[in-house]
Amino acid sequence: MKGPLPLDLEGPYPLDWVDYFVADKEKPGTFILSQDGKIHHYIGRADSGLGDAIKEAARRGDYSFFWFKFAESPEEAFHTHCHLWHLFNPPHSPNHPTPPPGQDWKCRECEA
Ligand SMILES: [Zn+2]
Repeated sequence: MKGPLPLDLEGPYPLDWVDYFVADKEKPGTFILSQDGKIHHYIGRADSGLGDAIKEAARRGDYSFFWFKFAESPEEAFHTHCHLWHLFNPPHSPNHPTPPPGQDWKCRECEA
């Protein structure tokens, strides 16, 4: 999907700047990776350590840009992940987000 971004995401920023913008090393959150800074190719989530998760995921594809949003808890990150996934239908992460092992949180948009 192309078009205006949700206002509560930060970015797009070049991936070289992850450490600068995602300075908190512990917090959970959600992120989007893009090859061109426009298309939302991959959407991911971290239950902690968002910056490292962005860099790890970025190594698996030819990405140049990212957006991110910190969350106050892994559960909040999960619901944001679901929301963005339904919104953008990311071509590189086609499977619906799943909660962490041991959690039975349900997506609020489709009850998956
Ligand atoms: Zn869903």
